[in-house]
Amino acid sequence: MAEAGVSMDSIREKVVEAEERIRKAAGLEELKAIATEYLGKNGALTSLLRTVGSLPPEERPKFGQAVNEAKRSLEVLVAARETELLEVERRRAEERERVDLTMPGRAFRTGIAHPITQTEDRIKAAMIGLGFEFFEGPELEEMKYNFEALNYPPDHPAMDDQDTFYIDDHRLMRTQCTAIQGRVFEAKKPPLRVFTVGRCFRNETVDRTHGHTFHQVDAFMVDRGVNMAHLKGTLKAFATAMFGEGTQVRFRPDYFPFVEPGVDYSISCPFCSGNGCAVCKSSGWIELGGAGLIHPNILRSYGIDTEEWTGWAFGLGVERIPMMQYQIDDLRLFYENDYRFLEQFRA
Ligand SMILES: [Zn+2]
Repeated sequence: MAEAGVSMDSIREKVVEAEERIRKAAGLEELKAIATEYLGKNGALTSLLRTVGSLPPEERPKFGQAVNEAKRSLEVLVAARETELLEVERRRAEERERVDLTMPGRAFRTGIAHPITQTEDRIKAAMIGLGFEFFEGPELEEMKYNFEALNYPPDHPAMDDQDTFYIDDHRLMRTQCTAIQGRVFEAKKPPLRVFTVGRCFRNETVDRTHGHTFHQVDAFMVDRGVNMAHLKGTLKAFATAMFGEGTQVRFRPDYFPFVEPGVDYSISCPFCSGNGCAVCKSSGWIELGGAGLIHPNILRSYGIDTEEWTGWAFGLGVERIPMMQYQIDDLRLFYENDYRFLEQFRA
């Protein structure tokens, strides 16, 4: 009898201990481990059943029944605690996924057009506004369009391979956008008002003011009775569209193989209205590019009668414009794609 009493006590002890632990189980994993520890195949209560043989035969059914009842009551307790814990987890998940409609929105970091692209877009708008047609030529160009068609003598220093990226004996990366002229003369008949904006390439040592890749605008017009006054008038209208009302244009004689006469042209400084400042180096003028009347040799080589038709052409570097406008003194900034630099051109 004493032995049976101890055994019945041992059931109660295990039950009290298990109940306590089940109630305190903080998660489903822990609960499962506790259930296995007491109710599993080798669990504490199951093991008690194996001691039944040591009891007097008349005690055995009562003991077995007590163990089974203890197991059932613990199983009910485990199931109840499991339901509670599932509910806690569900609430936590709900809290995590809850959408707070009062939170401020997260801004999308959208891209912006590159400052060179923005400038090209303004140039296109200005030239199309002046009645010019956009024409695009290839960057990988035939030598004849880049030089011969533009009246370059065969020994001109610009053709030196120190300045030019030659691809093979008759192709190169175009060194100037003026290379579209020959292509346009082959494809179209005058009267013509054509412009292009695009990339050019020269074998230059890269520094603050030189790049091996840069952009140019090139425009030309061929019509009856076209002269330098038309060129100056068009440049003034273009400069006004780009830099504002009142911009003046000044010509100074210069030489380019494809124009006769040739000039370099400057605009009155838009930052000091010609009074002198750091951008124009106190001169009141900013040199922009080259221009002139299209050389009659070029027109004649494309079968255009120079008694009837004359033309002008002008070109300028695209990078010059934002460098001037934003007082950027290093050309390389445009090609490094540093977001901190580019972001400043967000409109
Ligand atoms: Zn100035």
